[in-house]
Amino acid sequence: MAIILGCNTLYPHDTILAKVQDFKLPEHKIAIDTIKSAGFSACEFSHYCHLSDDDRHIAGDYARAKGVQPWSAHAWSPVPAEADKLDAGIADLALCLQKAAQLGVSVVVVHAAQGPDPLSAGRWAVFREALTRLAPIAAKWQLRIGVENCYPREDLLGMAEVIHGLDLPEIGFVIDTGHAILRGMTPAEAIHIMGAKLFSTHLQDNHGQHDDHLPPGRGSSINWQETWQALNDVGYQGVRIVEITDCPANRPANAKQDTQDAFNFLQTFL
Ligand SMILES: [Zn+2]
Repeated sequence: MAIILGCNTLYPHDTILAKVQDFKLPEHKIAIDTIKSAGFSACEFSHYCHLSDDDRHIAGDYARAKGVQPWSAHAWSPVPAEADKLDAGIADLALCLQKAAQLGVSVVVVHAAQGPDPLSAGRWAVFREALTRLAPIAAKWQLRIGVENCYPREDLLGMAEVIHGLDLPEIGFVIDTGHAILRGMTPAEAIHIMGAKLFSTHLQDNHGQHDDHLPPGRGSSINWQETWQALNDVGYQGVRIVEITDCPANRPANAKQDTQDAFNFLQTFL
């Protein structure tokens, strides 16, 4: 099966995205054009929740018409970690799922909250219940939910115990390569922990100090050959999505150059 490469939508003006509300439909169209002209054939929508219902439909249609598969969307409401936040957290995420369905994507990326006692039995019980309740909502919209690794190995192992244990078709993982290396794991280790439940990727680079979200290959901390091989080892069949930032902390924003650099580097692995 051919490997498909994708990239996230970046604020297209050569300036840092200050407010997601500035990233409207016209900016989404330019971002999709940038992804297409760099050579990618799929995308992740990084800032979709604030668009109107109509604009989400238009953005998804626009991408498809350009030959850019709407693959994933990033929700910014976390999976709750505390019992008293469960109902509100699920309601927020249900809305994120409904909005993502308007784009026509396959995967919704979420973070998990850790709460005050991250590795406690209580946190994992809430995590399990939240995912159990979210699965049928995702199924209704023909979506899968991928929980991203944001924390150290012990946290990922706890999430993996729940997610592999539940074994729900709608619930899996997203590997964020930059987060893995900053939290003391190689991306390959994290990918192997996720295994068959790996639903999508956030391929991004750094220098081992800050969560830079650099184009893959521009950092110095990640062994990309080994990472690529790990994706093959676990039989990952989905789009290989890059996640660059449009709010860089210590470099100029340059969506076109970053997107192009990411594609040029990754296509050497094909
Ligand atoms: Zn990420």
